Amino acid sequence: MAEASVMPVFRAPGSSEPVIQLTAARKTYKTGSIEFEALRGIDLDINAGEYVAVVGPSGSGKSTVMNILGCLDTLTSGSYLLAGENVEDLDEIDLADVRNKRIGFVFQQFHLLPSLSAWRNVELPMVYAGVHRDERRRRAVAALERVGLGDRIDNKPGQLSGGQQQRVAVARALVTEPTMILADEPTGNLDSQSTEDVLALLDELHESGRTIVLITHETDVAQRSRRIVHVRDGQVTSDEPNTPTHLMGGHAA
Ligand code: ADP
Ligand code: MG
Repeated sequence: MAEASVMPVFRAPGSSEPVIQLTAARKTYKTGSIEFEALRGIDLDINAGEYVAVVGPSGSGKSTVMNILGCLDTLTSGSYLLAGENVEDLDEIDLADVRNKRIGFVFQQFHLLPSLSAWRNVELPMVYAGVHRDERRRRAVAALERVGLGDRIDNKPGQLSGGQQQRVAVARALVTEPTMILADEPTGNLDSQSTEDVLALLDELHESGRTIVLITHETDVAQRSRRIVHVRDGQVTSDEPNTPTHLMGGHAA
């Protein structure tokens, strides 16, 4: 069955082509007569398959970056190319399509619908994408199995722990097979075991070729990524490759 899961407006992300190209990105918020420059000239290129952590203290502009990358907000100046396409040239319908099919979102507060069971929450992006009912159910259950919740598909969020709810949210983020996963403080509300579970899932998704942007203020969470971009006061202060501690060679000196 046609699922219209590929948008003609995008080229497939090739290895030579960055998925994300943010150039001289500025964002100014206006509150009444007060202006605040949340992003002050950010350059950031991310290639297909990278696992990047954006790290910075509270108020440094991380969520603003996430909102821009996720096409939830627009820049005041500068440019954002997503898979080579200038986001500014897309209309609302294209943007909704990008958000729904190309990007999987994971938020600190899970953002699950409380009245829906786990699998109903996971199928939602596919409802918007026009996937057939039986196929939605099959893929939702498979995604929940993938995150280790095959036995919780009928539970509502209120019947699940925080860690389980976040795993449902990860299942929802990956069910459309998006090019990129954007996670904003995904472990911010989790205990250490659930944090480990969610980070292990992100590792798996990275290993299966997904592009992952992980936003966090916690250094040890960022350590799981392969590249760490530090932001402060709306600017990139460093951008370095990272070897996750658990992958370092065990050669004692
Ligand atoms: P972080 O996620 O790193 O904590 P944010 O991107 O949320 O930072 O915010 C960066 C700065 O922009 C903060 O000083 C915040 O108060 C301000 N800000 C964020 N969103 C808005 C908004 N909608 N209107 C006005 N100021 C905002
Ligand atoms: Mg934030």
